[in-house]
Amino acid sequence: MNYSNKLLKEANGVFETRRKAAEETAERNREKLFENGEYLAAYNAYNGAKFDLGKAIYGGDEKAAKTAEESMKKYDGIMLSVMKNMGISKADITPKVNCEKCGDTGRTLSGKPCACFIKVLHELTLEDLGIEKRVLHDFSEAEYLDKNDLKDTYEKMKKYCSNIKNVDFSIVFRGEVGTGKSFLAECMANEVTKQGLNCVYLSAYDLYTVFLRYHNAPVYEKGDYLDLLLGCDFLVIDDLGCEPLLNNVSGQYLYTVISERAERKMPFLITTNLTAEQILEKYGERIMSRLNDKKRCITKRFSGEDLRKIK
Ligand SMILES: [Zn+2]
Repeated sequence: MNYSNKLLKEANGVFETRRKAAEETAERNREKLFENGEYLAAYNAYNGAKFDLGKAIYGGDEKAAKTAEESMKKYDGIMLSVMKNMGISKADITPKVNCEKCGDTGRTLSGKPCACFIKVLHELTLEDLGIEKRVLHDFSEAEYLDKNDLKDTYEKMKKYCSNIKNVDFSIVFRGEVGTGKSFLAECMANEVTKQGLNCVYLSAYDLYTVFLRYHNAPVYEKGDYLDLLLGCDFLVIDDLGCEPLLNNVSGQYLYTVISERAERKMPFLITTNLTAEQILEKYGERIMSRLNDKKRCITKRFSGEDLRKIK
């Protein structure tokens, strides 16, 4: 994906700040240790013994080498015990790395952007669009499942999320207002995010905001917005149908998102109150047939009483 230089620069800045902060924290902890006289003495003695060891090995003096090794072990033990007393672990004095894959450089060994870097690109793009990060519901909060025979659906969807990297089909939740579609969609988005994967959750209005920006953006910035919709591991569009339509292009953009993701085997979830006829009328036949393609997309109909009234 071609990102704009502006976005790449911003993301690189995020990673630089992250690395610097980790280095500074480690450095502060190291300084704290060296302020401790006992630690400092053991540290110096350890290094002295290490020097002696080198000398002994070079001179072929096995006995001296053994003595030096024992000393090193002893002083190392003292350092560790001082650290323990001070509540500082070895991990505390080395810069903490958030992503093992790239060591917080944002690039994998082959030079490609790491998944964690792409996640930051998406977060920055959302921030730039004014789309706030929402607090998502969790599967553990779903208490009223059995009242509407939804338990089975919830379990299946949880399983679907746990295997999201390998699933090759997407999901549409259809049904009237208040039947629990959005709640479940949030639980799913949350579940995927908890696995450390990149889930972009957008209300239909947010999606409209992205489309509008994409539409008006200069060519060199369009990739930023497109990748937000195509590059995430899981895309959730909540309440499709309640957003304003962008003249002649909403359907086309939505089609691009749906078909491109299907092509790349990257799943999406759409919730909507619209009936099949209304989807057809609002977005056209191509989208309808994509959503009806049973090999690539499964529709779950939600019915029953308004769950929000059940307490
Ligand atoms: Zn990474």
